[in-house]
This record gives sequence, structure tokens and C-alpha cells, in this order.
Amino acid sequence: MHGLMMDMPLSIPLIARRALTLYGSRPIVSRRPDRSLHRSTYHEVLGRSARLARALRRLGVKPGDRVATLAWNHARHLEAYFAIPSIGAVLHTLNLRLHPDDITYIATHAEDQVVVVDKVLWPLWEQCTGRVAARHVVVMSDDGIVPPGTLDYETLVAGEDDGFAWDDLPEQTAAAMCYTSGTTGRPKGVVYSHRSMTLHALGAGMVHVTGLSERDTVLPVVPMFHVNAWGLPYACGMFGAAQVFPGPHLDPASLLGLLADERVTLTAGVPTIWLGILQALDAEPGRYDLSRLRAMLVGGSAAPSAMIRGFRQRHGLHVLHLWGMTETSPIGTAAFLSPALLDADEATQDAYRAKQGRAAPLVEIRGRSAQGLIPWDGTTMGELEVRGAWVARQYYGADGPDDRFTPDGWFRTGDIVTIDHEGNMTIQDRAKDLVKSGGEWISSVALEGALMGHPDVAEAAVVAVPHAKWDERPLAVVVMKPGRTFDEAALRGLLEGMFAKWWVPDAILPADAIPKTSAGKFLKSALREQHRAHYGVADESARGG
Ligand code: ADP
Repeated sequence: MHGLMMDMPLSIPLIARRALTLYGSRPIVSRRPDRSLHRSTYHEVLGRSARLARALRRLGVKPGDRVATLAWNHARHLEAYFAIPSIGAVLHTLNLRLHPDDITYIATHAEDQVVVVDKVLWPLWEQCTGRVAARHVVVMSDDGIVPPGTLDYETLVAGEDDGFAWDDLPEQTAAAMCYTSGTTGRPKGVVYSHRSMTLHALGAGMVHVTGLSERDTVLPVVPMFHVNAWGLPYACGMFGAAQVFPGPHLDPASLLGLLADERVTLTAGVPTIWLGILQALDAEPGRYDLSRLRAMLVGGSAAPSAMIRGFRQRHGLHVLHLWGMTETSPIGTAAFLSPALLDADEATQDAYRAKQGRAAPLVEIRGRSAQGLIPWDGTTMGELEVRGAWVARQYYGADGPDDRFTPDGWFRTGDIVTIDHEGNMTIQDRAKDLVKSGGEWISSVALEGALMGHPDVAEAAVVAVPHAKWDERPLAVVVMKPGRTFDEAALRGLLEGMFAKWWVPDAILPADAIPKTSAGKFLKSALREQHRAHYGVADESARGG
């Protein structure tokens, strides 16, 4: 017997219609490259988005065509977010921090037909153009002047009316695609469907994750090219939250100014962004009025517990730790405190906030070791597997079985985790970053978190280095805060007080900076390469990636 309910397709136009009819006057604020602020509303942005949709059709964009964006976070990018999927085309956000060769590879692999580029990013696109077979390049410019051979975004939008019906699409239609950043081999394309994105927007807004509503003003620091700014632009549209976009200005002072002036309630980004913000707040406590800010979402790599504690104790700010991947849209888990923890002391609560947390609604997790599925005992380590309504089932263009997907339909994440009896998941490492010393595993993430807990340390990364006796031993690289002196003995003492002796890195080295990936994560493959011979074994077969 079938259920007798409507088969309503879950598609992006549904979010657009809701935002238009219920939240039209809610603000959309963007910082332009010249630092001035552009103020708009959902009504205006979606009106322009409708005109853009018509213009793209007029340019010959057909359902299924990939339309790429190479752009910062701003209102025009939001217009493209709604217009492109709503005509059945596929929004492909290109990562502007990649090398032109990688952008060229990705845009070619995805067969992008039209590319929409920020004028300030034209110098980057110029290094790819000619190599990418796009039919049209559309430039988003503030002064009406665009490079020869390109189309002016504003002229296209002005040439249309906003008669666009925002009709539903079949929910399994592709809506958007993102490429993994390729820290482990060639970038791979993940293709999101209208259904997965709509459900993800709903899931992202729920209390367990962000608890979004029209009382919120959200500033995604996480770029719109990084897994769709974690789905926040769509979630905000669905729940009516105002949006504030930082444009290209991501330095701590610019972000803090926007957070305070626009009375932002919720913001999101990778830990390296928040480490910088915390330093800036510590340097000038009380300078910014952040009394409206109810949560800072942190994910992409492990949020150090000292950072979580520092924000809470010194500035009254709350970090919400999320875990996810490009393949999981990205929200997989969130460290939302269970009722049992509400009465716990602050140190216990902070320890839970530093975990990656429990599976979001409609997502399931499990861990697997060589012995089979791991028990949820909080200590046994295994590789995290995940499945759910917004988890990829294969990569774009894959032409055969892929061992990242299990025969029984789970995605193998490559993350090594423990899960406790309540389902709280803790990332111990990425499989490729674990230190395997004398047959035992050492968590580089735990050591890094401890080092970043030292008040003089700005950033720390721990990598595995080949070792004659132990196979691998940990090596730490530490960046001190400005004006602080590196003191190896003090750092060693800190670690010896917290970990078994054999966990403590044999070498702790000072550095001016830690190399970062295009998403702002520590680029450990580069560090491993740099220090590979440090323990005297120049092992040619040492792992790459
Ligand atoms: P990339 O693989 O290029 O880093 P993703 O953005 O898809 O691209 O990164 C997903 C990975 O980031 C996860 O597999 C995990 O290793 C790491 N990650 C994400 N969130 C967290 C977190 N909260 N704590 C620790 N690691 C995280």
C-alpha cells in the first residue's frame, strides 16, 4: 500500500518562492572590493536573480549545462546561486584560491559552458581563459567596464524583466557541483541534487545544527566556493535569516567590524580564521560589540579546545563545532550538547564542544577497523563511514566502482575517529595524517590541539616523519604569537603533562608560518615533504598526498 501524500519535488525554487513571499524585506548586505557596503533585500536579490535566469536562457544555457562562478561572497553570487539551478543548469563554484592550472583542469573536467567571474578576479581567470572551452564569460563589475570579449553581468540583468515563475524541478535533477580540493590526488567532482540541497538546507537550519530563523543575521566567512558556504545561503533563504557577505575582505579587523556593525548573530568558517579573530579580540578586548553573536560555526578541520575555551571565557562567545566534507554537502555532525551535559561543569562542556559531535538528522555514522565495525566506546579507533540524504553516492564522471563507497551503500571518509556510547564522534586524524609509531597510532590532531592551548602559540601542526626504529615519529612545527619567544622545553613539558611519553614529538620546531590549503587548512603534505629527512631516514617511498 502506498502513502497518499503529495509527491512535492524538493527543489531550489521552493526556497526562492518562500524567501520571496515571506522574507522579501530581510536584508542582504555585501562588502564591495572598495570596502563600501551594498545594501539589498531578498526581494531585490531574487528579482535580479529571476532576470539573470532569463538572461542565461537567452544565452542558450540548457538544462544540465554547467555554469561556473569564480567569485567572492556577495549578493550577486547569491543571485547566481538561485538563478542557475532554477533553470535546470548546474551551479559550479570554482575555488579562487587554486592555481590557474587546477582551475583550468576542474573547469575543463566539468565542461563548464558559461563562467561568471568577479572583475577583481579577472587577472586570475585570464590565466585560465583560452584553455577553458566556455562559450561565454560574464563579468560582475561595479563600474560597468568589462574586459573585451566578455559580457557585462549588469547589462544582461538590465535587459530582462523579472517574469520568472520559479517552477519546481524534478528533485533528482543536478543543482550544483563542487570539486574536492585534491589534497589526496586529483580533485573529484561531487554533484548535488535539488533534493539533497533542499534537505541539507532544512537540516542545516535545525536546532541541532544552527537553529536558524528570521531573527538571525548570518555572515558566512566560509567562501561560497567551499561546499556552497556550507549550504548557509540556501538555509538562510529557507528560514528568512538576513545575510551579510564580506566580499574579498577577510582580515580579522574587517570581519570584526562587519560582525559588530551589522549585528550578526551567527557566523561560520574554518579554525584558522577564528584563531586570527581570537588573537585580534585578545589584543583589544571590548573594542567590538559582539553582544548579538550567538554562535560561531567552526569546521573544516579540528577546532582546538583552547580556542573554544578562549572565546567563551575571555569574550563570552560560543563556538559550535561541525564536521563535514565536500561529499557530505557538507554538514555531517554537530557538537550540540545533549541534555545530560547541560548541568555539567564548563570544562566538561568544553571537552564535548571540542568533539565533532553527533550525526545531523538524516545522516548516519559508523566506524570500521580491521576487526570490523568499532564499538561505540569512545576509545576504539576506526575509519568513519557515513550515509544520508545529502551524502554523495559516486563521483562525477566515475567510470567504475570506487572503493570510497562500500558495497552496502556507505561513504568511506578517510577520517579516523572514535565514537562514544552517546554517538559523539571525535576525529583523531585523517588516515593519511595519523602517525604510526611502532605499530601504534598517535593522533596528530590531539597533539596540535594541546600545543595550540599554550598561551604563546598561534598555530601548530604535527606530522609523521619516517624513523628507522619506530617507522614513523611525530614532529611538531609551531608558529608563535607576535612578540613571544619559542621555548621548546616549555612546549615539551606541556605535552609530557598531557600525553603518554611515546606520543610526544621527538622534534618541536619553530616556524614563521604553516603552509595552508586553498580552504585555509594546514597543508600537512607540504610539511611532511619539508621535514621528511629530519629523523635521518630519507625514505623515497614515504607517503605523499
Ligand atoms: P579537503 O579534503 O580538501 O580538505 P573537504 O573540505 O571536503 O576537503 O574536507 C573534508 C575533511 O576535512 C574531512 O574529511 C576531515 O578530515 C576534515 N574536517 C572537516 N571538519 C572537521 C572537524 N570539525 N574536525 C576535524 N576535521 C574536520
